Amino acid sequence: IVYFVLLTSCRQIKIIYKDKNAPIEKRIDDLLSRMTLEEKIGQMNQYNGFWDVTGPSPIEGDAEKKYNDLRNGFVGSMLNVRGVDEVKAVQKIAVEETRLGIPLIIGFDVIHGYQTISPIPLAESASWDLEAIRKSAEMAALEASAVGINWTFAPMIDVSRDARWGRVMEGAGEDPYLGGKIAYARVKGFQGDDLSKVNTIAACAKHFAGYGFAEAGKEYNTVDVGTSTLYNIIFPPFQASIDAEVKTFMNSFNQLNGIPATGNKYLQREILKDKWKFDGFVVSDWGSIYEMIPHGYAENLSKAVEIAVNAGSDMDMESNAYVNELSKLIKEGKVNETLIDDSVRRILRVKFELGLFDDPYRYCNKEREKKVLGSKEVIDASLDIAKKSIVLLKNDNQLLPLKKYGQKIAVIGALANDKTSPLGNWRIAAKNESAISVLEGLSNYKGNTIAYAKGVDVVLNKTDFTREVVINETDTSGFSEAKKIAKNSDVVIMVLGEDGFQSGEGRSRTEIGLPGLQQQLLEEVYKVNPNIVLVLNNGRPLTLGWADNHIPSILEAWHLGTQSGNAIAQVLYGDYNPSGKLPMSFPRSVGQVPIYYNQQSTGRPNYPGGDVVFWSHYQDDKNEVLYPFGHGLSYTQFEYKNMRIKQENKIFVVEVDITNTGEIQGKEVVQLYIRDVFASVARPIKELKGFELISLNPKENKTVQFTLTDKELGFYNNTGEFIVESGLFEVFVGGSSKTVLNGKFEIK
Ligand code: BGC
Repeated sequence: IVYFVLLTSCRQIKIIYKDKNAPIEKRIDDLLSRMTLEEKIGQMNQYNGFWDVTGPSPIEGDAEKKYNDLRNGFVGSMLNVRGVDEVKAVQKIAVEETRLGIPLIIGFDVIHGYQTISPIPLAESASWDLEAIRKSAEMAALEASAVGINWTFAPMIDVSRDARWGRVMEGAGEDPYLGGKIAYARVKGFQGDDLSKVNTIAACAKHFAGYGFAEAGKEYNTVDVGTSTLYNIIFPPFQASIDAEVKTFMNSFNQLNGIPATGNKYLQREILKDKWKFDGFVVSDWGSIYEMIPHGYAENLSKAVEIAVNAGSDMDMESNAYVNELSKLIKEGKVNETLIDDSVRRILRVKFELGLFDDPYRYCNKEREKKVLGSKEVIDASLDIAKKSIVLLKNDNQLLPLKKYGQKIAVIGALANDKTSPLGNWRIAAKNESAISVLEGLSNYKGNTIAYAKGVDVVLNKTDFTREVVINETDTSGFSEAKKIAKNSDVVIMVLGEDGFQSGEGRSRTEIGLPGLQQQLLEEVYKVNPNIVLVLNNGRPLTLGWADNHIPSILEAWHLGTQSGNAIAQVLYGDYNPSGKLPMSFPRSVGQVPIYYNQQSTGRPNYPGGDVVFWSHYQDDKNEVLYPFGHGLSYTQFEYKNMRIKQENKIFVVEVDITNTGEIQGKEVVQLYIRDVFASVARPIKELKGFELISLNPKENKTVQFTLTDKELGFYNNTGEFIVESGLFEVFVGGSSKTVLNGKFEIK
């Protein structure tokens, strides 16, 4: 008895959840056993930074109530709090003023860099360089963690085939295989190999699921997709992020087949938590619990909460709903408290793994903040990936690379002189005017003379994040100056495209050509000097039919972030030989959208001698895209030869020889596609199943080897089961989805 009493009192002295040497699950057990129901619910509550709250609204609530909730231990996380001082202020309240001292997890949209901005994710994806992409996320985590942030709402891994949708800028494009590889790289970049290190942050795979399939590319629109698309196209990047041990998921605003993702038990419980064994937590999207009411799915906020918790949404972002409604639902027996314990366990687990319990102020270090933000390491990485993200779409007369001496160059376009737009959207913490402009980048090359004219403004209101952009539709007064300098020059560089805020959340478009008067300007300048290099700045594929027909050189430079102008100048002058490949097809016309390389065949494809009318086509445009998925040129050329397919047990090995036939070193993304020719659920005409980025010196030859296992050869059937079927397969290899070599094999 004495021994027992002694043991219990010792236990009481040693508070297990505060003991860093105790196993995390034991610490959670201990903490959970001490928490009141309200404190547990508090962990499931996330608030936006109070100081941003301008007034009461159904979603935001009011600042005073939020402060009180924080003091009472009813807040588990905050977002949009940033900077060491701000983070420390709220963390101090959580840790020192609440009963149990549970630290907050501080979230932020670190989408492509924090203060130093790297290319928009779609652009980075064009690098196909997984190590550079991983590094870029690592640098973003380095800066973000130095200002007190420990959780990013990234990567966004929604596959999308619709260039009208503004958020394609934030994803990895149209392909589930490439998307999966990139999701993995980004999660690893943010989280590193040890989450408890002070320079790593928790990642968030979002938006689960289907958001990229919004009908007609209209933001937040309904999503209606079948099992095959859900499992084979939408899920793979999410599964890849689970493989990378992502700590959190975010659900999504859209309905999926009639059920809002936030209230979707099938997605969140059956698939994510049960089937995929995800042990992190799911945060709702902003106000998405509340939004189940306007969706026509929940009749009031209380019902929305009941549905969301039962469906597996662990944390409420800014619906202010769990904190106000949940305890009543538990008392009424509508939500089982074991579900709350499960959600809280998941949230606490991530906090423990981040090391927040052991040193809650570890992310709050002024000196580190000063040292890390904009440091050389971060800037260098951002320049590196910016160069790698650029895609040479066309280079007919070898206008590129530019000659370094003795040229008269006209630079035209408002975007050439813009230091904000290249930052793109989702750059909340970056300073306006902090990007290197194209003009600044070019000024590093002194051998040529440069004349600049704006031509036209793209947007009239120099934008901020919250404002709708106003496109210049009328003012052509700058045309004559632009034409004048073009006429007097050897080469004209026209920097045209979208303003940085024309893509992103809430930025869907029905027309995806060059906005405003830029197309007209391009045509006018062309009349006086056709030696044009068109440099595009944009956050989505654009329709560029006229430009493709007339302009000899086209360089896709997206929104490349802080180092934009330097990267573009280095590529224009050939100091970096472009190596990017499109992660998304560029349509000819918006009427073709959604258009993507991995389509299904129809029963009436085109074939020689076939019917002229009754086949699957348009009357007024071609079926083909303008620039295919995977397309991108180099200043050198690559030759593909000798494809051979070998079978080793159940594995097929494909080898191919690639030679650099040009005069300079270059990099090539060698791509392998397959087609499962006949299947119990018809398969796409091509599917990317392997790629390798290689570097070749002039005349150098390399053999690239791909292995095809069940993982690459199988697919999900319409009951969501992964199967591999016997029969004929085709294999295609090349430098884009328009491949140059093909072969066949059979699974017996
Ligand atoms: C977006 C999320 C984002 C969240 C927080 C939402 O509107 O859909 O992707 O993480 O806001 O800023």
